[in-house]
Amino acid sequence: MTVEGGRPNPLEFLDDEIAELKRANLYRPMRVLNSAQGAEVVVDGKTLISLSSNNYLGLTTHPRLKEAAIAATREFGAGSGAVRTIAGNMTLHEQLEMELAAFKHTQAALTFQSGFAANTGVIPVVTGEKDLIVSDALNHASIIDGMRMSKAPRVVFPHKDVAALRELLRAAREKGRADSGEPYRLILVVTDGVFSMDGDIAPLPGIVAAAEEFGAAVMVDDAHAAGVLGKNGRGTVDHFGLHGRVHIQVGTMSKAMGVLGGYVAGSQALRDMLIQRARPFLFSTSHPPAVAASCLAAIHVLLEEPELIERLWTNTRYFKGELARLGFDTGASETPITPVMMGDSATATKFSRRLFEEGVFAQPVVYPTVALDGARIRTIVTAEHSTEQLDRCLEAFGKVGREVGLVSA
Ligand SMILES: *Cc1c(COP(=O)(O)O)cnc(C)c1O
Repeated sequence: MTVEGGRPNPLEFLDDEIAELKRANLYRPMRVLNSAQGAEVVVDGKTLISLSSNNYLGLTTHPRLKEAAIAATREFGAGSGAVRTIAGNMTLHEQLEMELAAFKHTQAALTFQSGFAANTGVIPVVTGEKDLIVSDALNHASIIDGMRMSKAPRVVFPHKDVAALRELLRAAREKGRADSGEPYRLILVVTDGVFSMDGDIAPLPGIVAAAEEFGAAVMVDDAHAAGVLGKNGRGTVDHFGLHGRVHIQVGTMSKAMGVLGGYVAGSQALRDMLIQRARPFLFSTSHPPAVAASCLAAIHVLLEEPELIERLWTNTRYFKGELARLGFDTGASETPITPVMMGDSATATKFSRRLFEEGVFAQPVVYPTVALDGARIRTIVTAEHSTEQLDRCLEAFGKVGREVGLVSA
């Protein structure tokens, strides 16, 4: 095939690959949101109840965040104009990091453009060829990419399997480095705090105990726990009472905090070294003032409006309970992330399309994000949903579930 004008198209293979994805029901069309994010949204021109955002507390449209963004833009402009280490380090960035560190009860924190950038930034800085990374099998893609960018070898332990983790750590300490037999400088155990596709919580007390037994460090990625678990949404370390025993905490301000950005919280030395070496930090422009200011406002809301988190959990318990009563399999979820298991991708895709027609926005998650037979509709209720809205969603799930034969009665 040739493009118009008779020139050959070297990217022609993309057409074949797309056709193949479509044949396998693995092609993801992108919907267009025509409204603000919220419990009710307009998607492709249709008003729907959304179960698809990470906007757990409704902070994307919270008046305090919006006002903070507007005020910061008026005073400091639309962009920061440089990377942090050259001329783009503003008072707002520094203030945000001080307040994040205080919030997380750590010595220091450093923000990144996103949670993805935080993971790909921190892992190659703290690990290298003398070290070993030990990673949960279901860790987030950004952790996997961070490990790929590190020179350190890595091993994977079965999902949440603390006994298997202990055995790996024991063997690593006994045998030492594969190349030289020298002891590892650092063994870093990495886990999601809340797993993003299943909504289950990492067994952090067991992981920390195993790491301490073998002198390893622990890194937890709390993207889905920040604003959701722990006092005022401080995350899994707070949830389990493990302050001071987890060395690296990654978080995102893009989910429950309602804005954008990632951070690494830990020791002062960790922050100092990241500023020297973390490539997404060094080579990519810092957040616009509006982002830093609204993230600061989000921390203040977490501290001053804890009823939002209570409402989130009330809605979560209600929605999960009713889905189970209808006969749906919601997997291993323990958090507001509630997967509704579908099995194959064709069912998941069809189910989501039918929900859309019934006024509910809930997206399918298919391979390669989850296993081929693990296709699901992933739902997240928020603090903003009314019981009436949740009931309308449940009615739609029941109706479509009966249609496709996933539930009876
Ligand atoms: C969403 C997510 C990220 C990425 O965060 P962004 O701020 O959206 O880049 C990282 N880790 C986990 C576990 C996530 O769920």
